[in-house]
Amino acid sequence: MRLALVNLGYLAASVLFILTFKGLSHPRTAVRANLLGSVGMLVAVVATLLLLGRDGATGYAVILGGMAVGGIIGVLLALRIRMTAMPQMVALLNGFGGAASVLVAGAALLEALAMGQVPSAQFTVATVGAGIIGTVTFWGSLVAFAKLEEIIGGRPLMFSGQRALNAALLLGSVLLGGWLVVTPEAAWLYWVIVAAATVLGVTAVLPIGGADMPVVITLLNSYSGLAACATGFVLDNNMLIVAGSLVGASGIILTQIMCRAMNRPIANVLFGGVGAEVVTADDDVYAGRVKSVSADEIAMVLEAARRVVIVPGYGMAVAQAQHAVRDLARLLEGRGVEVEFGIHPVAGRMPGHMNVLLAEADIPYEKVKEMDAINPSFAQTDVAIVIGANDVVNPLARTDPTSPIAGMPILDVDKARTVIVIKRSLSPGFAGIPNPLFAAENTLMYFADGKQAVLDLIDAAKQAA
Ligand code: NDP
Repeated sequence: MRLALVNLGYLAASVLFILTFKGLSHPRTAVRANLLGSVGMLVAVVATLLLLGRDGATGYAVILGGMAVGGIIGVLLALRIRMTAMPQMVALLNGFGGAASVLVAGAALLEALAMGQVPSAQFTVATVGAGIIGTVTFWGSLVAFAKLEEIIGGRPLMFSGQRALNAALLLGSVLLGGWLVVTPEAAWLYWVIVAAATVLGVTAVLPIGGADMPVVITLLNSYSGLAACATGFVLDNNMLIVAGSLVGASGIILTQIMCRAMNRPIANVLFGGVGAEVVTADDDVYAGRVKSVSADEIAMVLEAARRVVIVPGYGMAVAQAQHAVRDLARLLEGRGVEVEFGIHPVAGRMPGHMNVLLAEADIPYEKVKEMDAINPSFAQTDVAIVIGANDVVNPLARTDPTSPIAGMPILDVDKARTVIVIKRSLSPGFAGIPNPLFAAENTLMYFADGKQAVLDLIDAAKQAA
């Protein structure tokens, strides 16, 4: 009876997880989907506790105590985290997931041996899988976190023989794993595998540039799912297998989507070392060619506009300008101007970054258009306001086949009658390359912090009216 209840709980949780993924595919349903996922996880945890009760486990106090401590730390972290720091938070969560798999699989092996059991091949293969993948996930995620938090530099750290070392570490871990499968009583091998995978996790992520970390984190997220799935096979736990596979598959799909949006194969992200060479603001690529304007001048341009498209990027997130941007949009709409938002799939530093910020500022979903939907309309747009976006509006992607972003689809803001670019300086975006848009005939630059700039624009527009 108890087992039937547990299985029913697992089935319900699996259905809720699948509904969660479906709901997360649109901003309108994402919040409810998140709630469904949380309920699913609660059901899964309660069912697992019931399962432990069947086995006569006496560790409820330890488990509930651990959950309480972990829960409090999680809530505090989630409440305190800055929106721009979300990728590093996700990195930590993935890393802990990987570490949990490593510890659980290792403990299961030790327990089986202590009880005099001979572990099956399924058990040991899965243990090795959880050990390697979970360890790489943990250490890789910590390096990703350190890069994004700028604890270590974001530049790719490369040394000669790095790829050979990584290949040797991976091969060595797998061979040691094979040894453990044929001699499961040599549990020490597991910890040697974990040590080798530790070095691999660090040296695999060090050569990747800080700004590529979101893609790496998505990939590591998928690995954490695979590690959990492997642990599910170790424990013979269907829920862990289902949940782990879902995370593994969705992480891979998201990684693919991000790579496609940047027009870069995953191998280029993992081994390309993009971001090693960075153009500094001192480069005089635009010398004497940019037109820097004041808020009053922009207000006059907006006076005559009938259609305005706002294109936010990473800088809007840094400046936390989304509420000011909403106010500007409302002001313009109040004057009969048609205002829409154009979102590039990799604007910002994580998928959906801009959608989340605009939703937070209560900007209606129907005004927020995906790149493919908004691009044909730029030719009929009077003013495109680019706020804190750089690479995603860089025409070099279309014109320079040698550029690191060559072939990346971009938002065609340069086709609007007038382009207003708001940023603090001429410094480059993540790709580290100059942007000819800034020096284009129809571009006006407004150099300021994103939020302050928009507030100044609102003031100027009100005065001009
Ligand atoms: P970029 O990183 O290209 O440019 C951001 C710009 O914002 C900078 O040029 C910066 O200029 C400006 N900025 C920074 N702070 C402020 C501020 N306070 N106020 C005003 N402006 C500011 O951003 P995009 O969004 O255009 O492009 C995203 C990049 O990240 C792409 O290259 C993409 O490939 C990459 N990427 C995105 C991922 C994703 O999932 N979204 C994942 C991995 C990579 P200045 O310093 O002069 O102000």
